[in-house]
Amino acid sequence: MNKPVIAIVGRPNVGKSTLFNKLIGQRLSIVDDTPGVTRDRIYGEVEWLGKKAFIIDTGGIEPKSDDIILSQMRRQAQLAIDTANVIILVTDGKTGMVATDMDIAQMLMKSNKPIVLCVNKCDGIGEPTPEFYEFYNLGLGDPIQVSSVHGHGTGDLLDNVFEHLDFTEDSEDDGTVINVAVIGKPNAGKSSLINKITNEERCIVSDIAGTTRDTIDTMIENKYGKFNFTDTAGLRRQNKIYDDIEKYSIIRAKMAIERSDVCVIMIDAEAGVTEQDTKVAGLAHEAGKACILAVNKWDAIEKNDKTMQEFRKKLDTDFAFMSYAPKVFISAKTGQRIDRLFEFIVSCAEQSARRITTGMLNELLAQATTRVQPPSDKGKRLKIFYVTQASVKPPTFIFFCNNAQLFHFSYQRYLENRIREAFGLEGTPIRIIIRERG
Ligand code: GDP
Ligand code: GDP
Repeated sequence: MNKPVIAIVGRPNVGKSTLFNKLIGQRLSIVDDTPGVTRDRIYGEVEWLGKKAFIIDTGGIEPKSDDIILSQMRRQAQLAIDTANVIILVTDGKTGMVATDMDIAQMLMKSNKPIVLCVNKCDGIGEPTPEFYEFYNLGLGDPIQVSSVHGHGTGDLLDNVFEHLDFTEDSEDDGTVINVAVIGKPNAGKSSLINKITNEERCIVSDIAGTTRDTIDTMIENKYGKFNFTDTAGLRRQNKIYDDIEKYSIIRAKMAIERSDVCVIMIDAEAGVTEQDTKVAGLAHEAGKACILAVNKWDAIEKNDKTMQEFRKKLDTDFAFMSYAPKVFISAKTGQRIDRLFEFIVSCAEQSARRITTGMLNELLAQATTRVQPPSDKGKRLKIFYVTQASVKPPTFIFFCNNAQLFHFSYQRYLENRIREAFGLEGTPIRIIIRERG
């Protein structure tokens, strides 16, 4: 499924975060029962006329400062260009146009991403103020009057923004293309991996151009299937302006994760596992994506017969929250085990899209509850009536029971493991939803 990305850009104090909150606020009433997902101030979801998109407030990434640091603006603009399908440039209708607005507009216009110009703080209803007309000078077409505080104009704004977004399924995406995000910290070897893959013989490469797709997507076809790789290192390394700022790497990873079916989490074997690795992996896990842990630069490591086993153990501990993820030791340089990586990508994608019949699930439930009795408390025992699979990607199961309180986490874990064992669900997170029924 295609969930496009909108980025909000603009100089400090024009009202970006106010606008962001207003836009995602329209969705807050919708219950999000995804467990473990923390709401972040920097990115969220916006829904308009039944369509959903991701939205990033690039101003939320760095500490706010009134003296405008141009390098900061440049980083924010670049992030928007790299990750967004459409960019909202926010300006301040009270102060009127200032030179920095022009600078930012010019940075953004160098990309061919669609830009929607928002003139914020137009709190009065009616004729625009003379200042409003100055914004035509930015060369971005008709500005849209908005008051983020009151909410006026946000409908117009969203109409314009969503007009630029493409919600149709990709024509190339007939369900056989697997979207792969290669994520991990800078220098882990993400670009090297994609370069290696695209230079392989018998591999058809097509760069996807166009405004609705990220310029860093690469479509390839080989004997394992069709894949669309997103390289979060981005733009073939021409751009390193924010790679070393962790927050930018994390946001970009997050956006790539959202669009993927499978995440390859790249770990630099030379550097070992770092906190940033587990953080990025946690995002993929929370997003419910199939995950593979790929330890790269395996060629550069001095090894004996225990090295891999020891590294595996380390991964088991540090990535205990995703014990389902297969682990593979690769070299983007020599190509070692990249075939194995592809096998994992294909199998993990399949597993995360699997549907298990209700009959089979309930048969398993009967066996599992006989083998280990459901927990009880003060004479009251958990009764599970029924289980059914609600959705895929990730496989999500709803258990109907007499008392959700009694359905302890450990028993959920037990059932999850039974399901994994019985149906071979590997490489994908599983979600469990519990519903009480009298
Ligand atoms: P950011 O730095 O671009 O994220 O700006 P903020 O969202 O933090 O807003 C800066 C200031 O402008 C705050 O004091 C907001 O209350 C104010 N502000 C934001 N939107 C509006 C608006 O539509 N009208 C008015 N009058 N003030 C606004
Ligand atoms: P990215 O920032 O994650 O895209 O990392 P790069 O692909 O730019 O790689 C960073 C550095 O690691 C480069 O100097 C690569 O040549 C090197 N590198 C990448 N993969 C391997 C590998 O498998 N083995 C070795 N020895 N070096 C690698």
